[in-house]
Amino acid sequence: MGDTNISAVLLEKGNLKLEERPIPKPGKNEVQIAMHSVGICGSDVHYWVHGAIGDFVVRAPMILGHEASGTVSEVGEGVTHLKVGDRVAIEPGVPCRFCDYCKGGRYNLCHEMQFCATPPVDGSLARYYVHAADFCYKLPDHVSYEEGALLEPLSVGVHACRRAGVTIGSKVLVCGAGPIGLVCLLVAKAMGAAQVAITDIDTKRLEVAKQMGADFPVHVTTRDGREVADQVVRTLGCNPDVTVECSGAEPSVQTGIFATKSGGVLVLVGLGPPTINIPIVNAAVREVDIRGIFRYANCYPTALSMVASGQVNVKPLVTHRFSLEQTLEAFEASKKGEGIKVMIHCDKNKA
Ligand code: NAD
Ligand code: ZN
Repeated sequence: MGDTNISAVLLEKGNLKLEERPIPKPGKNEVQIAMHSVGICGSDVHYWVHGAIGDFVVRAPMILGHEASGTVSEVGEGVTHLKVGDRVAIEPGVPCRFCDYCKGGRYNLCHEMQFCATPPVDGSLARYYVHAADFCYKLPDHVSYEEGALLEPLSVGVHACRRAGVTIGSKVLVCGAGPIGLVCLLVAKAMGAAQVAITDIDTKRLEVAKQMGADFPVHVTTRDGREVADQVVRTLGCNPDVTVECSGAEPSVQTGIFATKSGGVLVLVGLGPPTINIPIVNAAVREVDIRGIFRYANCYPTALSMVASGQVNVKPLVTHRFSLEQTLEAFEASKKGEGIKVMIHCDKNKA
């Protein structure tokens, strides 16, 4: 095809470079994708700056990026549901499909999970990328490439709100108004939440949350988790049925416990320090269920339906746009945290 495969390679901690890589060929049940939109996630920036997240350490050069969409440019043997030219969203984690977790439908917990840009697996921030065809979802014509890329964080929101049991009439507290808190807000509303309160320490982010439909933005100005919980209850007029914690900050998890009504659910989406101090007896005696979430399983089709039908509008999340050649600038912008979602466009020829 006479094209090159510029790829955003993290060589080691702090050293992100554009490099030429061979154009990968699709194997059996795989498709080659001419990449279009790749969103930068906090984890991409974290690997770049720190070289590791928990036990996942970058020990060899790795291509970054996992919030992605593009156009099928070649199909491998056995692929029947996609053809060259199809626009697709890429679900970045491919599990083994054989273990008990996979068979039980909780494939996000599969020990063999190959997840883009989680070391040592290469991500998709490149001109061309090859992926398992059954983890690619054809986009309807009216759904944009950027919306396709945003199905990744949106799927986190779908999984979190499902685990939280959000339903018609729910009173919901979302802690943290970053990209993940905002998608949880959107999904909670779409699932029928009556009112959503959302906290943050950053007033600009709360302003965005308000524009995206939050009923009660709550500005956090103290590290006293109980005080913030009281503030939330006063604002909402009651204790939230469910809390979706999306900051990972210790005082915010404490707020999540204190605020959630007895018998309610607190979902921990935010991943902060591995060990924190929390009022566990308060949760125990009030039967507040604390549930973790890890990415998502079986959420892409739902996320796509929500976007395609107009139930959620993810477009306002994108605040910055860069070309693949401007990857370093894009990462710098994302690190500064000024906007919400930074999007990289890998295809020079497509809008
Ligand atoms: P982000 O850093 O952009 O957003 C976090 C927000 O929390 C920021 O706006 C920050 O100002 C706010 N915050 C900080 N301290 C706070 C406090 N005490 N009270 C209220 N708000 C506070 O990150 P993001 O991309 O939105 O991701 C959110 C979290 O979700 C991260 O910890 C990330 O690692 C995690 N995450 C988890 C999963 C999973 O599968 N469990 C998936 C994706 C992201
Ligand atoms: Zn498995």
